[in-house]
Amino acid sequence: DKGLMWFRRDLRADDNAALYHALKSCRQVCCVFVFDTAILDPLIERGLVADRRVEFLHASVTELHERLRELGREHGIEDAGLIIRHAQAQAEIPQLAEALGVQAVFANHDDEPAAHARDAHVLGDLAHRGIMFHGFKDHVIFERREILTQAGQPFGVFTPYKNAWFKALEAFHLKSYPVQRYASNLAPLEKACPMPPLETLGFCTTNLAQLKVPTGTSGAQALFEDFVERIDLYDKTRNFPAVKGPSYLGVHLRFGTISVRRVASVAYGMHLQGMQGASTWLSELIWRDFYHQVMANFPHVVEHAFKPEYDQIKFEHGKHAKDLFAAWCEGRTGYPLVDAAMAQINQTGYMHNRLRMVVASFLVKDLGIDWRWGEAYFADHLIDFDLAANNGGWQWASSTGCDAQPYFRIFNPVTQSERFDAGGKFIRRYLPQLAGLPDAVIHAPWKANEVELVAAGVALGKNYPKPIVDHAQARERTLLRYAVVKKPG
Ligand code: FAD
Repeated sequence: DKGLMWFRRDLRADDNAALYHALKSCRQVCCVFVFDTAILDPLIERGLVADRRVEFLHASVTELHERLRELGREHGIEDAGLIIRHAQAQAEIPQLAEALGVQAVFANHDDEPAAHARDAHVLGDLAHRGIMFHGFKDHVIFERREILTQAGQPFGVFTPYKNAWFKALEAFHLKSYPVQRYASNLAPLEKACPMPPLETLGFCTTNLAQLKVPTGTSGAQALFEDFVERIDLYDKTRNFPAVKGPSYLGVHLRFGTISVRRVASVAYGMHLQGMQGASTWLSELIWRDFYHQVMANFPHVVEHAFKPEYDQIKFEHGKHAKDLFAAWCEGRTGYPLVDAAMAQINQTGYMHNRLRMVVASFLVKDLGIDWRWGEAYFADHLIDFDLAANNGGWQWASSTGCDAQPYFRIFNPVTQSERFDAGGKFIRRYLPQLAGLPDAVIHAPWKANEVELVAAGVALGKNYPKPIVDHAQARERTLLRYAVVKKPG
C-alpha cells in the first residue's frame, strides 16, 4: 500500500506518531508539508509580513526535508524527502493524495477549532475519492477525553487534573515511536521539490538569526541539552525575568520540532529521583496538556469566557480605551516592568512567563480592557503562540477562565517589579533610558525625587511616560466592574 504523511505542527522525523504508523502500515510513504495560504495569506493582508514564526517554520521545514532525505539514505532510499507545496491545504491534500495514488493520509491531531474544520473537510473530500484519513495523538501526553473526572466529565480544575494525569501515566505514554525501524518504507520523491524562498511565500526575514533563536530539531536538541543542565534550578529561577531560568522550548513544542514525550520522559525520570526543579517543570508540561484538553472539550473558550457569567463584564471601549491599549502595546504605560515586558515581546517575540501574567493583569485589571484584545496581540507577536495555552493564560489572568485566579486578586505592577526584578536588571536591559535610576525607584520612577531624576537623565513625560493610570483607583474600578458576576441574572 501507499500512504501520505501530512506534517503540520510535528516538524520532526524522529518519535513522530503519525509518521511511525504510516511507515509501519504502508510499503511506500510520501511526505508532504503545505505552506497553507488559508493561514498565511490573512497575515499578509494585515501587513504582518515580518513574522518570526513563518521564518522559524520555513527554517524548520527545510531541516525536516534534509532529515528525511538523510533517513532515506541511511535505509537505501536515494531520493526521499518532503513534497513542499504553497497552497490551500484543505484543497491540496486530497488532490495530491489522489494524484500520488495513496490509499491513506496520515496526520497528527490538531485540536484548534480551525484545524478541526480543515481536517473535517479534508476527511470528507478524501472519502469521496475512496482514501482514508488516519489521525494520531502526538502533540500532548494526554488529549481530548483521555483524562476525566470520576463522573466522566472533563476537568476544569488543574490540581485534580494533574493528580489524575499522574495516576493514568504508564511507561507507554512516554515511549518514543521508533520511526527508523520502518524508514525503508519512505518513498523516493518523483521529482525534486525545491523549498520556496521566504519571499515567494510573501514574507521577509526578521531578526530571528540576530536573536539566535535556534530552529528545527537541531535547535530544539541544543536548547534541551542546555536546559537539562540547569533544570534542577528551575523552581528557584523561573520567576525572575532577568535570569536564564526557563527552557525557551515553547516555540519548539508548538511546532513539534521536539517531541513532548521525549522532554516529559526526561523530566519524569528526574522527578522520580526527587529533583524539585524537574517536578516543577513537568508540572508546566501538564498545564500545557490541561489547556489543550480545555480547548478540545470546551471550544467556546476561544471567543468566550470559560465561566459564562464573566461574559457580562463590561470592559472599556471607545477612543480612550483604544489609546490606553495602544500605550500598552507600545510599552508606554509609565509602569517600567510592564513597559520592559512589552519591549521584550515587541523586539524578540518572547515574553517571560511572570511578565505575561503581569502585563495581562495590567491590561485587564488596571486599564479595564477586554482580555480578548490582549490575547489577540499576543497571538500576533509571540513566537511560541499557541491558541490553547495563550487563551488559558489570558483567561487565568482576567479571572474569566477555569481554575483562574479570583477576580479580586489584582497584581500590583510595582510590587511585582520589586519582587521579581529587585535589582532592576531586566528593566534596565529593555528601558535603557531608566538605567541611571537607583534600584529603589526604578520600579516607580514617579516616586523619584528631582535630584535622582536629573542625575539619571530621566524627564518624566518626555523621555519616559508618567503612569497612564493610578493603580489604587484602577483596582477599585475593577472590583466594581467584576461585581456583576456576583449579581443574580
Ligand atoms: P518553560 O517555563 O520552560 O516551560 C516549558 C513548557 O511548558 C513551555 O514551553 C510550554 O509549552 C509549557 N508551559 C509552561 N507554562 C505553561 C502554561 N502556563 N500553560 C501552558 N503551557 C505552559 N505558552 C505558550 O506555549 N504559548 C502561548 O501563546 C502562551 N501564552 C500565554 C499567555 C499568558 C497571558 C500567560 C500568562 C501564559 C502564556 N503561556 C503561553 C504560558 C507560558 O508563559 C509559556 O509557555 C512560557 O513562558 C514559554 O517559555 P518557555 O518555553 O521558556 O517555558
